[in-house]
Amino acid sequence: MTQLERAAKGEVTEEIKAVAAIEGLDIEIVQRRVASGKIVIPSNSNRRKRVVGIGKGLRTKVNASIGSSTEIADIAMEVEKAKIAEQYGADTLMDLSVGGNIEGIRKAVLDAISLPVGTVPLYEAFAIAIEKYGAAVNMPAELLFEMIEKQCSEGVGFMAIHCGINKRTVEMLRKQHYRYGGLVSKGGSYMVAWMEHNKRENPLYEHFDRVVEIMKRYDAVLSLGNGFRAGAIHDASDRVQIQEMLINCELAELGREQGCQTMVEGPGHIPINEIEANIIMEKKMSGESPFYMLGPITTDIAPGYDHITAAIGAALSSSFGADFICYVTPSEHLGLPFPEDVREGVIASRIAAHVGDMIKLKNLHQDKEMSKARRNMQWDKQFSLAIDPERAKEIKAKRGNGDEHSCTMCGKFCANDILRGMFESDMAGSDKK
Ligand code: SF4
Repeated sequence: MTQLERAAKGEVTEEIKAVAAIEGLDIEIVQRRVASGKIVIPSNSNRRKRVVGIGKGLRTKVNASIGSSTEIADIAMEVEKAKIAEQYGADTLMDLSVGGNIEGIRKAVLDAISLPVGTVPLYEAFAIAIEKYGAAVNMPAELLFEMIEKQCSEGVGFMAIHCGINKRTVEMLRKQHYRYGGLVSKGGSYMVAWMEHNKRENPLYEHFDRVVEIMKRYDAVLSLGNGFRAGAIHDASDRVQIQEMLINCELAELGREQGCQTMVEGPGHIPINEIEANIIMEKKMSGESPFYMLGPITTDIAPGYDHITAAIGAALSSSFGADFICYVTPSEHLGLPFPEDVREGVIASRIAAHVGDMIKLKNLHQDKEMSKARRNMQWDKQFSLAIDPERAKEIKAKRGNGDEHSCTMCGKFCANDILRGMFESDMAGSDKK
């Protein structure tokens, strides 16, 4: 049985207890939210490692995506990226490999880290089709279900599966005269090409019950993929994207009713004034399924800095109620991320998630403590409260003057030093002490 089914029967699973303890919530609240699908726990029954809850009332979680391409496929580098993602605080990891030994990379990553691992099983199915049948459009539909089953059996905790693409949405894409930025989801564009070539419905939509049945068997979380997410600001919230979201929300409910843990994926590229509306729609239409935002990237003109454009979107998304954020690295739109890009992406996304949680969860304690530590120039405390203590220590050490207690930013003009001792008695009895 899945976490959802067990919770719905009134069982308090070990995973529910762990999520409640980690998040500082009542066990009963977590259990009720798992039972109603508002919280998911990606804990494949074949790979029980770190427990992570995603959803209502929980800290916004950060996913780091790694994976080979057809041009650069190096198992050791992907394992290194996975370890860096874990080291710098990602909550989950997606292996999006499409090149080289896809299965070998996935297995090595599953062994190397304790985070829940997600995949997009379509990638491997299409890669096999290209190799075996000469083209992705020649893929036998059955291969999709075989890949979902195989990856579930290996212990994959959640999967982005593009069930929400159907003939109607493809027709809408045509009627709206395509898009400024085209289709940018690999799974989405390959699926559309397959449907157009074969003149057939998307098998993952047509046989959604089969997808649910496989995912349930391993208690993997079905993440309803955003194949029509906008890849350009000018395409955001167009009819096709919203139509797919509507279908995905409906499927999230259907899957949940059958006992499968589900979540819905969101954009993509989006201007900041449209973020809240997307979140409100997803939450209302899906019955509050966890919302997994990909980025989102908030301008198209900052290649090299898309970890920042996405962090802006992620902070707003989190503050408006998004539950799960997929990081973006500085190499987005330019090339395959290297290990140093993974660190940048994870930290940027963690900062954004925290900024959102300050509003969404009123999680302000750490900031208050940091303020006091800064005023009192308690450097060790500042480092211990920092999202990336290593970076903070490096900068402090490089720009010091030999006195580890002072700061060279203002030097003898240090505002804190000038007023030291003058207001201490006024703070008596206050938590400002
Ligand atoms: S020197 Fe300036 S930046 Fe550094 S602690 Fe003092 S006031 Fe802050």
